[in-house]
Amino acid sequence: MSESVISVSELTRRFGSKTALASVSLSLPRGAVYGLVGANGAGKTTLIKHILGLLRAESGSVRVFGIDPVADPVGVLSRIGYLSEENDLPGWMRVDELIRYSRAFYPAWDDAYAEELRQKFALDPTAKIKTLSKGQKARAGLLIALAYRPELLVLDEPSSGLDPIVRRDILGAVIRTIAHEGRTVLFSSHLLEEVEEVADHVTMIHQGKIVLSGPLGAVKESHGGASLDEIFVALVGTPADSTLRSE
Ligand code: ATP
Repeated sequence: MSESVISVSELTRRFGSKTALASVSLSLPRGAVYGLVGANGAGKTTLIKHILGLLRAESGSVRVFGIDPVADPVGVLSRIGYLSEENDLPGWMRVDELIRYSRAFYPAWDDAYAEELRQKFALDPTAKIKTLSKGQKARAGLLIALAYRPELLVLDEPSSGLDPIVRRDILGAVIRTIAHEGRTVLFSSHLLEEVEEVADHVTMIHQGKIVLSGPLGAVKESHGGASLDEIFVALVGTPADSTLRSE
């Protein structure tokens, strides 16, 4: 029987009077590419922080690989590759120094794979991180998140601010490779076209509540073959990237 990689049950989180997550439940099967979709402020990052054990469940429960990530952060985080929206890499390091520094944390670090990714991502080993473009920084962050071949890759808005080439050719290819190898990917996005291209499960979240969740094919079929953008607007009333469009 395939156990869930992530299992969240009735998770509620408030910040003061604001309910960021309202009784959220979800379960991620191994080997799936899971797209978490919602507008700015929907609750995506708050949910991811619970999965990483950075926030403790106030009510409800969170299990990753069957473990409570707050009780055993090392047991969980050593098996997760994580790329945050901010992608705050140390600017003063060179790319090769960042790779050497990061490998020290992970016994399962794969030198050959790290080098393969560095070449594939066209990263100059002598370049200082602070001189890299946003797209190059995202590639460096992705390299670090991938090089120890984590069982679960968590990407929070990996495409924000990236050009379409990085998004499609790099991110799309990486995500597909990981899934082919039987590992699991959870990524959050407000770009529904992109989710439609790479995800095989989709969860839509709005104002802290899950409004739709299921395998991509079944979700589209049950909405007459509509695009995810159209389904999101039908359920929520506004497009997922509406807050960004008006910024
Ligand atoms: P974005 O794409 O903008 O990051 P998101 O879907 O990830 O959006 P969250 O960051 O999870 O959304 O935020 C959900 C809600 O909780 C928002 O209204 C946000 O303002 C609020 N929130 C999140 N973290 C905190 C915090 N530490 N203190 C107070 N409010 C918070």
